[in-house]
Amino acid sequence: MTITVPTDAPILVTGAGGFIGGWLVGRLLDQGCARVRAVDIKPLEEWEQRFPDADSRALDLRRLEDCRAAADGCAWVFNLAADMGGMGFIELNKAACMLSVLINTHMLMAARDAGAQRFFFASSACVYAADKQTSADVTALKEADAYPAMPEDGYGWEKLFSERMCRHFTEDYGLATRVARYHNVYGPHGTYDGGREKAPAAICRKVIQAKLSGRHEIEIWGDGEQTRSFMYIDDCLFGTLALMGSDLAEPRNVGSAQLVTINRLVDIVEAIAGIRLERRYRLDAPKGVRGRNSDNTLIRRDLGWEPSIRLEDGMERTYRWIYDRMAGPHSPDPAHRRRPTG
Ligand code: NAD
Repeated sequence: MTITVPTDAPILVTGAGGFIGGWLVGRLLDQGCARVRAVDIKPLEEWEQRFPDADSRALDLRRLEDCRAAADGCAWVFNLAADMGGMGFIELNKAACMLSVLINTHMLMAARDAGAQRFFFASSACVYAADKQTSADVTALKEADAYPAMPEDGYGWEKLFSERMCRHFTEDYGLATRVARYHNVYGPHGTYDGGREKAPAAICRKVIQAKLSGRHEIEIWGDGEQTRSFMYIDDCLFGTLALMGSDLAEPRNVGSAQLVTINRLVDIVEAIAGIRLERRYRLDAPKGVRGRNSDNTLIRRDLGWEPSIRLEDGMERTYRWIYDRMAGPHSPDPAHRRRPTG
């Protein structure tokens, strides 16, 4: 599939100091976009990846005037900025998650007023109704399952509200919006410690800690039989650009359909590390819904594509990257990297 991105007018990526945004900036530059504007609230030296060819700015996109400065003159806007993290973060920070509505509201207003042609919003599988995710033996979630609404408390409600705001900005103001419902994205440069990490990175970190310390045990949140699917970053970038370049105005799942239990994910990481660990299950820890998978019928039909990178392959690359960070001879300084590794 050929994806045509504007190569002359500026393209804005918000959340560019984070995981997916950082990779997206790199991918746009690689595709020949001469003018990529990268924005994040974090000071530039704390960005996960930084590219000298991009126009990188530290702005607080909860503020309308900062959104206007970010969107000024931009043809395409990829809005990925959000105050978010894994289950441990979103269960304990519902108000903070909902305050990302300020970013989404103000970015939509600024993009509209700047005359942007297209606006991408990074939504989430957390918009799906809780009663469709009570069994580990799941029926994959199709786009219509977001309604009647009963999304993940806090984070999911904010995403669903912002999805609808995108829709109404299209209807009322003619701003073309594209909405991806990402299902668990992982890969190098994702957070792996500090409380915002998600299951794949957290499990890599715990296995590496066990390997380095010689204490061959691991704590798992829940009973390990909860099911999920995980999408490698390269698939996420491809789906993001394909959706943005398409004429699909309705939200689409962008997620892997390779369903695994958390126990299976631990098996995969143990195999990569070459060790076996004694598992201790913490049943009182945040664990999210019981089962969740992505139904890719619509994206297959509409884009002729779905994520296909095997979990075993993506986890290998992710494990190596985290291992190098935790045990490598020198801890890398992202501010001095030209191109990402991994
Ligand atoms: P991330 O936390 O690595 O990146 C988000 C970035 O947004 C951070 O660098 C953060 O500093 C920035 N940000 C927060 N508040 C801001 C503000 N006021 N102004 C400017 N920047 C601000 O997260 P990610 O994994 O890269 O996720 C990117 C987007 O994709 C988010 O909207 C997230 O909700 C969505 N998403 C991610 C996943 C996933 O598995 N990673 C799944 C579903 C949806």
